[in-house]
Amino acid sequence: MAITATKKKGLFAWYFNTNLLTRILIGMVLGIVAGMVFGKSILWVSPFGDILVRLLKMIVMPVVIFTLVVGAASIHPSRLGRIGIKALGWYMLTSAIAVAIGLACGNLFRPGSGMSLGDVGAAAGKTLTQPSLLDTFMAVIPTNPFESVTSGNILAVIFSSIIFGMALAHLRDNKKERIRNAAATVFSFFEGCAEIMYKVVQWVLQYAPIGVFALIAVVFAKQGAQAFGPLATITASVYIGLAVHLLVVYCGMLAVYGINPLQFLIRIREAFVTAFVTRSSGATLPVSMEVADEKLGVSKGVYSFTLPLGATINMDGTAIYQGVCAVFVGLAIGMPLTFNQQLTVIATAVLASIGTAGVPGAGAIMLLLVLDSVGLKVEPGSAVAAAYAMILGIDALLDMGRTGMNVAGDLAVTTVVAKSEGELDPAFWDDSALGAQAGQAVEKA
Ligand code: ASP
Repeated sequence: MAITATKKKGLFAWYFNTNLLTRILIGMVLGIVAGMVFGKSILWVSPFGDILVRLLKMIVMPVVIFTLVVGAASIHPSRLGRIGIKALGWYMLTSAIAVAIGLACGNLFRPGSGMSLGDVGAAAGKTLTQPSLLDTFMAVIPTNPFESVTSGNILAVIFSSIIFGMALAHLRDNKKERIRNAAATVFSFFEGCAEIMYKVVQWVLQYAPIGVFALIAVVFAKQGAQAFGPLATITASVYIGLAVHLLVVYCGMLAVYGINPLQFLIRIREAFVTAFVTRSSGATLPVSMEVADEKLGVSKGVYSFTLPLGATINMDGTAIYQGVCAVFVGLAIGMPLTFNQQLTVIATAVLASIGTAGVPGAGAIMLLLVLDSVGLKVEPGSAVAAAYAMILGIDALLDMGRTGMNVAGDLAVTTVVAKSEGELDPAFWDDSALGAQAGQAVEKA
């Protein structure tokens, strides 16, 4: 996956020769300014943002399949099971802590208190359907793996790719030379395909700054003023919760495992920013995988499995948001959540985060499940629906932060699991290598 940085010449040399992350950040700042200044008249740029999201989505399935098959085929099946259990354990634990932090922020900043929405009669209630958790679990086993690829059922794709990779791992050690050779050919084929996909990721990222500008401009044109206005307390509570989770939980667990948290944050920035602007953990997956491989030094055997799994089931940012929003809705309708109700929120939000798809706005749908579990039903015309509609109004802005955190969580757990399994390349984290790595990263970008 080596990338050679060659200086470009020609009309767009200034563009390609500027550091990628700098370009992305400039695109983001310009997008915020353009959205706030021009308002709805800037909405015509929206297709440029859609192009970025479509390009990222285009590569997700191939990247996951090829990398996962190579990863699973490179590692002994018993170790794969251990890595899976560790990753799952961390994902669940961090999600539970995340909801608790969200609830704590909600109780501390009390968004929605004094709003007395209980008096509001009609509200724009939406009829939204909640996916059942049992269905989500059953869908992990595809009845037709090819169909799961075309329909984008990522958990089913993970399942079938791992089975395929594990069988390949066994055949690579087969007694018969003919079978060993055939397995080696298949392995090389998948490895080659994975490398090709990473090349495509590099190309797509070159377009990212333009797409980022458009995506951010549209969000701020539509919702910027609102988030800074009456709903500022919710926005602030969610973002403070996210910051606490990042700095205390992720940095804490990395430090415990002897990984420099600051270095970690610097190295994952490309994935974080991509998640922030696309609002989709799924679409960010190719970038997270690249970051794990090239910037964090995690072995393919670990990240090829933990990252797609995390992008599908680990949603700490979403969990924080659900904690804050549950408290908000309770306060807004004049029925603050009791302690027991808050415990219920922790349990349902962790389960809901498993069923939340890594796509924009999915967390807001799963919030219905969480609210329902504490008796706050969103029914057309109800006060709960009015409070929920207010949250939906600024959902895109909250979604940016929570998706960034969802992806940061996947990478933090992946790094810790890799370290505990001896699958983290020490050369990447050696103090003397830090300077060289950072320089290399800048050069590559
Ligand atoms: N957009 C989030 C993600 O892709 C999910 C959510 O809406 O909370 O991770």
